[in-house]
Amino acid sequence: MTATNHALSGAVIGLAITQPAIALPLAFASHFVLDAVPHFGIGFSKSEQNRRLFHRYLLVDASLLLLIILYLYFAGAGWLVFACLFLAGCPDFYQAYNYLFNKKFRATGGGIWNNKFARFHKDIQRGKESIKGIFIEVPLAIIFTAAITYLL
Ligand SMILES: [Zn+2]
Repeated sequence: MTATNHALSGAVIGLAITQPAIALPLAFASHFVLDAVPHFGIGFSKSEQNRRLFHRYLLVDASLLLLIILYLYFAGAGWLVFACLFLAGCPDFYQAYNYLFNKKFRATGGGIWNNKFARFHKDIQRGKESIKGIFIEVPLAIIFTAAITYLL
């Protein structure tokens, strides 16, 4: 799932549930629920063409994420919304870290998943990522954005 939709879902949870003890773990769990749904993904591989496409995808996703954060900030969202947004997206930070700093990870096209958490995270997404997943991501983003606008 895109970082955009993870962030939007976290923001919805942070706005809809005002009890941090419920909202925070729910936001973290939402990451895995969304990853288990068919979603957009091009993955990363060793091919230069795929790498360029993947970088463009990351740039668009990161830009949308920044816009969401700015929108929420200027709309006056509270700390819980940002904490939920962070928790909803943070399981992917592991992959981002590996992609940016682990040469072996990049060299194998992401083929190494060396701990239980990473394997679980990968397994729930097995067969769920495709280009066609954009037809799930866009309606989800619209629904989450509408919910945020309503709840703010
Ligand atoms: Zn994930």
